Amino acid sequence: MVKCLNNEITEDTLLQRIGIIRENIRTAALSGGFDPQKVRLMAVTKYVGAEAVLRAVQAGITLIGENREQALSQKLPLLPREQLQVHFIGHLQRNKAARVVRMVDMVESLDSPALAAELEKQAAALEKTLPVLIEVNIGKDSNKSGIAPETAAGFAESLQAFPHLQLRGLMTILPLGAAQIETERYFSQMHALYVDIQEKNRDNGNIDCLSMGMSGDYKLAVKYGANLVRLGTVLFS
Ligand SMILES: *Cc1c(COP(=O)(O)O)cnc(C)c1O
Repeated sequence: MVKCLNNEITEDTLLQRIGIIRENIRTAALSGGFDPQKVRLMAVTKYVGAEAVLRAVQAGITLIGENREQALSQKLPLLPREQLQVHFIGHLQRNKAARVVRMVDMVESLDSPALAAELEKQAAALEKTLPVLIEVNIGKDSNKSGIAPETAAGFAESLQAFPHLQLRGLMTILPLGAAQIETERYFSQMHALYVDIQEKNRDNGNIDCLSMGMSGDYKLAVKYGANLVRLGTVLFS
């Protein structure tokens, strides 16, 4: 499961790569008419150990993402928590929700009504407000979790019943191996859905996050309006 990338990667290499990625993000955002300054870069740390994550933090990374509870609990004590935003990005089993809610600043992978209820319960127990993104299965990929695009707006509305959850936007993972033209259509549909949910929730005013794009497709994602890209391989390989 853990595809181990380069744990020996140096801070210099990371600095160089972050510079190139930032430049790519700038070009892509401008080509789509978006503000490059508003695009956040997440280092997805699932492939590497805490030492490599520390070097990434020294190279300027301030946002990290993990997709497994156990890896997160192992790495987090070794990291400068106060310098970091930490997001959970994997499918979350309900029996792990309590530990994850305690550790993270955001859950990006809210993918079912049952998980919403569980996160609400755990956040309430901690007297904490938990920012969340709805994970949308935009490609209707039967291998992936996520809310169907046509029910996302209704699901967003249902979250108003949960006072300890703060809806901040949408996240998606595209089907593996989608052709470029499909990829562009999915990203553009996600952006339209994001704008729609923003308008329907105008009075809460907190919907500011569209998390899409990974190593293979982040430039296209940004061109279509992503403001958070989640990168593992291009940083750490
Ligand atoms: C692994 C992972 C990524 C990063 O993927 P890369 O292609 O290595 O950049 C992004 N998002 C999620 C949810 C992931 O699990």
